[in-house]
Amino acid sequence: MTERTPIANLKEKLGQEVTLKGWVDIRRDHGKLIFIDLRDRSGKVQMVALPNHKEAHEAANMLRPEWVIEVTGKVNPRPEKMVNKDEANGMLEIEVLSVAVLNEAETPPIDLRGDGREIGEEVRLKYRYIDLRRPRLQKNMRARHEVALFIRNFLAKEGFLEIETPLLSKSTPEGARDFLVPSRLEKGKFYALPQSPQQYKQLLMVSGFEKYFQLARCMRDEDTRGDRQPEFTQLDMEMSFVEREDVMALNELLLIELVQTTMPEKKIQEMPFPRFSYKEAMEKYGSDKPDIRNDKNDPNLLAFCWVIDFPFFEKADKGGWTFTHNPFSAPKPEHMEWLMNKENVGEILTTQYDIALNGFEIGGGSIRNHKPEALKRVFEIMGHDPKDIEAKFGHMLEALASGAPPHGGIAWGLDRVMAILQNEPNIREVIAFAKDGTGKDLMMSAPSDVSPEQLAELGIRVVKE
Ligand code: ASP
Repeated sequence: MTERTPIANLKEKLGQEVTLKGWVDIRRDHGKLIFIDLRDRSGKVQMVALPNHKEAHEAANMLRPEWVIEVTGKVNPRPEKMVNKDEANGMLEIEVLSVAVLNEAETPPIDLRGDGREIGEEVRLKYRYIDLRRPRLQKNMRARHEVALFIRNFLAKEGFLEIETPLLSKSTPEGARDFLVPSRLEKGKFYALPQSPQQYKQLLMVSGFEKYFQLARCMRDEDTRGDRQPEFTQLDMEMSFVEREDVMALNELLLIELVQTTMPEKKIQEMPFPRFSYKEAMEKYGSDKPDIRNDKNDPNLLAFCWVIDFPFFEKADKGGWTFTHNPFSAPKPEHMEWLMNKENVGEILTTQYDIALNGFEIGGGSIRNHKPEALKRVFEIMGHDPKDIEAKFGHMLEALASGAPPHGGIAWGLDRVMAILQNEPNIREVIAFAKDGTGKDLMMSAPSDVSPEQLAELGIRVVKE
């Protein structure tokens, strides 16, 4: 096999013969000259097939967009007046010596030449594997990789371990509906897909790992709203022997270094990040995720802020109390007594901290109740009876009674962070295989029917109304 030169490296090969492999981006016939733009993951280059290389010229004449080809050619400098300063390879051109077709392609159902924003999203998602060839999406995926890699390295240096937690699990209350998975071996019983690794990460603290993180997939069966996805990715972390300030400081440092290293063109409006109490944020901005940018037209301006001191409980729709953020949170230390005595419930503040960026909530977390009695009180206040608490959270109470260190953590919505950093209007643009606005995977046609045999095995009968 001849050595392949990535298109991005052509500048170093002026005057040499190279082998290129990639996709035909566009073909333009100019009488006897045939121009072909070739694309690989590293870039694009203009190639020209001249009639004096007869075979290559004939082969080039057959090429169509999106065909996969191998080309040998000579890297020539472009004549002065043909240089295009806007293109990475605008100063050179490949003189085609031979062409081999590795695979033909049907005429693409979507145009790959622009950024794709003008194309209906349904067809983009249906043919996502083609849509993803678009340089804008290639760039988004690459940026996402760089960000994930930076996070992993940063946290590893801080002593964190990346630990995977199960997807087949038990319902964890994060305020949304669970996706359920029927059990074949125990008919009539169900796993729940995790809304977050909340309980597992706390259990890892009980196990003594002290610093955990994970790029975790979370599943929430919520009704369609804006650009939510039924599955999304969190940067999830948990730490032992920490207080609110420790978690906030570490995350602030991570965000700042992440932006400064991977996106140096971005400007962070204010450091340290400003902080508002929930009350202040609501009074001043009418939002608990305020957009505090002083110039909303600047695509490179990042205005982070923290929001703290949220009420722990709010009145539930059905009467009684429910949690505002996370039932596993601890109250602020000065309100622990109220929690234990179940008094002034509406005034108890939680240790919850949310982080907002340019008007979007990008993360949130809290210090947890590490004593079983305190966690039990939370569930009692929310009206769970002792049997219910035992059935749903017995394992957590038992674990907290087995030597649980004080601990706390946070999770970021990684898709949202990436969308903002990439100036994308919605998270689907930074997720390789996104679902549509109604939660469907249009490419795979999921959800889909399953066979009667599969249902029978699970002991499930479908009622269609
Ligand atoms: N589990 C929480 C969530 O998904 C985050 C946390 O408190 O760490 O919102």
